[in-house]
Amino acid sequence: METPAHIGSRAVRTTCPYCGVGCGVRAAADGREGPSISGDVLHPSNFGKLCSKGSALAETLSLSTRLLHPQIGGRLVSWDEALDHVANALKGIRDRHGSESIAFYLSGQLLTEDYYVANKLAKGFIGTPNVDTNSRLCMASSVAGHKRAFGADVVPGSYEDLDEADLVVLVGSNTAWCHPILFQRIQKARASKGTKVVNIDPRRTATSDGADLQLSLASGSDTCLWNGLLVWLADHGHVDFDYVARHTEGFEAALNLARTHAGTISKVAFNTGLTADAVTAFFKLWSESTRVVTCYSQGVNQSIQGTDKVNAIINCHLATGRIAKPGVGPLSLTGQPNAMGGREVGGLSNMLAAHMGFSDRERDIVRRFWRAPNLVRGEGLKAVDMFTAIARGDIKALWVMGTNPAVSLPRADAMRAALEKLECFVISEVVSSNDTVHHASIRLPASAWGEKDGTVTNSERRISRQRPFFPPAGEARPDWWIVAQVAERLGWGSEFRYASAADIFREHAALSGFENQGERVFNISGLATLSDGEYEALEPIQWPVLTSMQGTKRVFADQYFATPTGRARFIPVSRKVDRPAPSDAWPLVLNTGRIRDQWHTMTRTGLSARLSAHISEPFVEINPSDAAIAHLEDGALARIETAHGAAIVRVAMTDRVAAGTLFAPIHWSDENCSAGRIGALVHDATDPVSGQPDLKATPARISPVEFSYSGFLLSPDERNSHLSALEVVYWARAKVAAGWLTAFAIDGSFAVARRLADAMMGTGPRTSVADETAGFFRSAVVENGTIASLVFLSRSKNVQPNTWIKDVLQRDAVSVSERRAILAGASPQAMVDEGPIVCVCHQVGANRIGDAIARGCQTADAIGRDCAAGTNCGSCLPEIHRMLSREVSKLRPAGEPCEASAKEATEVAENSQIAI
Ligand code: SF4
Repeated sequence: METPAHIGSRAVRTTCPYCGVGCGVRAAADGREGPSISGDVLHPSNFGKLCSKGSALAETLSLSTRLLHPQIGGRLVSWDEALDHVANALKGIRDRHGSESIAFYLSGQLLTEDYYVANKLAKGFIGTPNVDTNSRLCMASSVAGHKRAFGADVVPGSYEDLDEADLVVLVGSNTAWCHPILFQRIQKARASKGTKVVNIDPRRTATSDGADLQLSLASGSDTCLWNGLLVWLADHGHVDFDYVARHTEGFEAALNLARTHAGTISKVAFNTGLTADAVTAFFKLWSESTRVVTCYSQGVNQSIQGTDKVNAIINCHLATGRIAKPGVGPLSLTGQPNAMGGREVGGLSNMLAAHMGFSDRERDIVRRFWRAPNLVRGEGLKAVDMFTAIARGDIKALWVMGTNPAVSLPRADAMRAALEKLECFVISEVVSSNDTVHHASIRLPASAWGEKDGTVTNSERRISRQRPFFPPAGEARPDWWIVAQVAERLGWGSEFRYASAADIFREHAALSGFENQGERVFNISGLATLSDGEYEALEPIQWPVLTSMQGTKRVFADQYFATPTGRARFIPVSRKVDRPAPSDAWPLVLNTGRIRDQWHTMTRTGLSARLSAHISEPFVEINPSDAAIAHLEDGALARIETAHGAAIVRVAMTDRVAAGTLFAPIHWSDENCSAGRIGALVHDATDPVSGQPDLKATPARISPVEFSYSGFLLSPDERNSHLSALEVVYWARAKVAAGWLTAFAIDGSFAVARRLADAMMGTGPRTSVADETAGFFRSAVVENGTIASLVFLSRSKNVQPNTWIKDVLQRDAVSVSERRAILAGASPQAMVDEGPIVCVCHQVGANRIGDAIARGCQTADAIGRDCAAGTNCGSCLPEIHRMLSREVSKLRPAGEPCEASAKEATEVAENSQIAI
């Protein structure tokens, strides 16, 4: 029977597990393989659209990488044995070292129900405050900024405001790549009603291409720009003094400090590195646009001044009364699908539960509601401090759920080493192998997306259901079930006897309304009495929900805030930069971020050949002037070093990054490359208010990596350990159809390089060609008329397979003439090399799009009609626009291995000179 939750007998309405946009998904499974995925047209956050990552979800559900059974010390055990072991270990450590020697590190990937139960066990029963989450790395500064300004962690507005705004300002946010569906929504408003878009980011990105004004300000100068705007608003008659007087406090103090910091256009221009004209243009546009939404993301949050940046933005909205009304307001874009749900239940170490803190009254409320015997007294350690405490030996037991801190934390090498000091390291995970799992003695298989049942909350406070469409794989269980089972074994079973996710949700909702006379904005008590059937059918709804099924589009619409006075607070912010500055030893600043088609540490998106086609190797963007100083060539390999670690990545020379800065993505790990964990390089400076790490400004240096031969391997399996054991200076692996593509570099003689390249292919009959003088070796293992593995070695700095060769492993039969062509480095006749893939949905590469442009296609629509690029999810449209603006028409001859893929695949996103 068809219900709102279920479409047909096996299809469900669920939610994408990736970013904080929180898109609705329709998923239908006829078996484990190949479920059909589409956007949910009824979901108000995306109206049926999905980006490239969401569209490829079906390709990431393989069981090949799943953790399917409980393990202790690598031994498969029963659930009973594993759970007894965890409970006994935690009890023993608590008895010997105290509650605070136990820590939990949670994840914005968890469902709200999982989060709630883990937080309850830790903070209410075990009695440890040391519970933090990878959301600390994502939006803790926004949480702190919201609490300072509004008295509560509240995003006042909705995505709908983006449709109604006259001006959308994007700050520290590559929205085009990291929140693609929202970016498309903004671009739709731009096209249909002329909404202006300003992009504020030191780096020019794909987002810049959809902006009317690009402000490439100096890293860390955001507060100066926003303080300058506050002064401009005051000096040019744009402050709404009536609103300020009635609904805010602290305006004069904030303005006075802003004047000392950014009192003139020239001072702002000097401090931000922008021209006075650009600063003036922005100030005029912001002040003269009636409806303004300012969106901000990791470039604001992941900073030593993150909280101040958030408040500097909010100050300008408060000064003009542009908040909690249609088409206006600050809008924090969260990175993770359930970062906000985690905040709701107290997943951060400085929150308790249901948005409560640690006052006597709040603690009393939570203690009585939970009947908690050991409620914590105050805040616990935030993520960086937590892992530092592990390194010191103060924390003896750690339970990680659904995250990969050995890759993602700053100083990731040191953090990873700290894990070895733990007496007890438990991990609840979906995958059997990642950089963190390897260090855990107790591994518990958790349900994955498609199996989970619960809720998530997106960036606009919208609670949506995640519904299962598969049974749990192997012995996987929901995270909440695992935690509740351990609680039972610790003697608290009666408080954790949940029959379902719905049971937990009802308790969570009831706590939010418990003794809440309106002082706590987070209140979903209107959902506390949902029946199981109503929970199952729950439609996306924005909190607060005070009466059944009545959500709230805008919070603070009455302009009464959650502070003791009911007034929003201006927060004076100054220009404080306490982080280590560049020096002779470390002359550059390393910025980090994400790419369009990968998610976090690639444990899921890395399984999709389509998603891996866009960018397949770790890279660093470097300005040509810095590249010249460092003697780096485009497409070569470089070693990036900081005081904390080193990485080897591909060089992408581009003027989209300013001289003196580097940009490298965070996704690669020891699972898929030899030395690409960028987290290992990042310093552990944190924002003093939010504790969020400063992930975007680590002093660094860069130098060439010497090697004599490079090449690629196509193989059906990952051959990870095999490659690690070989003496290659670099390797990086990406998914391709029916196998894996591994780029590598070797430093040695031709004989050595040839021997190593040959060894990579494993055993089997070979067909090979080699020419030491020309410096190449190509070899294929041929089995039953198909190519089982293939290696190319060349003296060239960067060798990549062309389109035909890249797909060779999936071909049923490869004729003798085709084999000859391959080993000659060519493709069969009439084969067009796509070049770097731009449109992953239709697998259309830069070469084919360039062809279309050369044939006269002048718009993205025309290109779509010509070759289908950009006609599905639309995530590649910024790059297509970029190519159009650059009139890309350079085609490579078919059949030649292409070079510099990382650089070229990203360069198409480079923005152009943009003016209002
Ligand atoms: Fe998923 Fe993309 Fe939507 Fe984010 S924008 S929720 S990654 S489909």
